[in-house]
Amino acid sequence: MLTESKGIRLEHISKIYQDPKTGKDFKAVNDANLVIEPGSFVTLLGPSGCGKTTTLRMIAGFESPDEGEIYLGNEAINELTPNKRDTAMVFQSYALFPHYNVFDNVAYGLKLRKMDKDVIRKKVMDILDLVELSGMEGRMTNQLSGGQQQRVALARALVVEPSVLLFDEPLSNLDAKLRVSMRTEIRNIQQRVGITAVYVTHDQSEAMALSDQIIIMNKGVVTQIGTPQEIYYHPADEFVADFIGEANFLKGELVSKDGENGELDISGCRISVENAGSFTVGNTYTVVLRPESAVLADEGQLPCKVVMSCFMGSYQNYHVTVGDTLVKITDFNPKHKKIYRVGDMAYVKFDACDIHII
Ligand code: ADP
Ligand code: MG
Repeated sequence: MLTESKGIRLEHISKIYQDPKTGKDFKAVNDANLVIEPGSFVTLLGPSGCGKTTTLRMIAGFESPDEGEIYLGNEAINELTPNKRDTAMVFQSYALFPHYNVFDNVAYGLKLRKMDKDVIRKKVMDILDLVELSGMEGRMTNQLSGGQQQRVALARALVVEPSVLLFDEPLSNLDAKLRVSMRTEIRNIQQRVGITAVYVTHDQSEAMALSDQIIIMNKGVVTQIGTPQEIYYHPADEFVADFIGEANFLKGELVSKDGENGELDISGCRISVENAGSFTVGNTYTVVLRPESAVLADEGQLPCKVVMSCFMGSYQNYHVTVGDTLVKITDFNPKHKKIYRVGDMAYVKFDACDIHII
């Protein structure tokens, strides 16, 4: 495809809606600032109602922001109608035309543009080839599986050669297995075409698998933007840590620091940390410890008592208490390891680089 992919920039974007119950105004999107690089795959991730769809619809032009400016490439696009924006949307419900066959569904946008018949035919066939639906062009959409319908929807969006593809939970109507294979396919096609993609989901594993960058939203506010690794290993706050993967939260006082290295006192034990730079000695902070970053051992940093021990095949699942705090541990490949039982005293063991102050 010849499309030039473009970046997107949101500057101080807010959207005000009225709460239908109270009649009061609220900000469904609250002062969002984001930069989406050309050709990247970016996911808007957050719980239901956090403002993902509203953000996407403002980029598409179906809603207009009450504050701020949206740029596509270098162009401010707030005043442009959706069909002038060089974006194409793939919906959760596919929004295919049931009385059209696959070819006519995909050709629709090109016919609207009054393109030459032969050109339309070539473009449609090329795109159907890209989404691996060659030979299906004569089928009616109700003769297609959910996954095939999704591909038609994708082909229909791609065929008009937009600079940006927008997806609103496009896989939520598919069963779990198909969701996993379709997301890989969407990612492959996006990379082959080199198009910028903005993808809305509430599913963290989908976001992790697809994204160059994840934008976490909570209650209308963008709380963190980063690669899947940055978000997972360096969550900005408890909400992000809890939303992405599983997290243990421990409280401790920062008792000393030297540059980024610091020492925390957790229940009377000294714990080294490697991201203490911006925190203040003498204050109490929360630290995040991922369950798979810790193991149980006879020696380690934090003494604990085992309250649950469960063999899960690929890992041993422990719940232990450190003081009053419950800590979850997933100890992978336990076959040749010592297994602790409920009631055992042990230690939680981890590396300084695996705990993170927030
Ligand atoms: P998400 O896609 O993250 O689930 P939405 O962007 O759809 O969230 O909605 C954000 C908030 O705005 C929700 O509280 C929702 O109920 C509200 N909302 C969405 N659209 C409208 C509308 N047209 N009028 C009033 N409130 C709306
Ligand atoms: Mg939504």
